[in-house]
Amino acid sequence: MKIENKSLLQEHHKTVLLQQLYAPYLKCIMCPLGGLERKNVVFGEGNVDSLLFFIGEAPGKHEDATGMPFQGRSGSFLEKAFEETGINRNDVFITNIVKCRPPRNRKPSPLEMKTCKNLLLLHQIEIIKPKVLCTLGQAALEGLLNRKVKISEQRGIILPYFDKKIIPTYHPAYVIRNQNLLETFIKDINLAIKTANTP
Ligand code: URA
Repeated sequence: MKIENKSLLQEHHKTVLLQQLYAPYLKCIMCPLGGLERKNVVFGEGNVDSLLFFIGEAPGKHEDATGMPFQGRSGSFLEKAFEETGINRNDVFITNIVKCRPPRNRKPSPLEMKTCKNLLLLHQIEIIKPKVLCTLGQAALEGLLNRKVKISEQRGIILPYFDKKIIPTYHPAYVIRNQNLLETFIKDINLAIKTANTP
């Protein structure tokens, strides 16, 4: 499954631009999450030439310890779901709406999401140039749109977002707790892949 627009020079250039973007924020204190219990800022990882870009909620304990997104149970579950659709995590770019772990894994506040989106996420999107933003769960979609949403009403719909498309789906942790949603979750990821691959 090809979901990228790759040239070696472009890949190197994007990697350098991302490093330059991240450098001032390695010890970010621009929102309350920076001054709390965070160990590592979790910027994101994956294929910088991917046309498909996943956005989760926030780093948890494992992500905070390793500096990588989706490492724990939700991460293994997401990887299995990717396998079902014929891709793997190295084919796509994965990040979160906020890059620092909220205390006791609480939901990030609208201010925290807005600050982090403006300082990092929107620039990551600008550099990577994906076609599809697949939001995982309510917080990611609310953060991106700057308004309250009901994920059950939004999923399955393709939402325009400037020159990109948002494909909202459930958060992997929610699907782990509600296994009846697994088929829908896989269907949404398949839709995201198909949309990213459509010229
Ligand atoms: N790990 C992440 O990186 N993000 C989530 O939203 C959940 C787990």
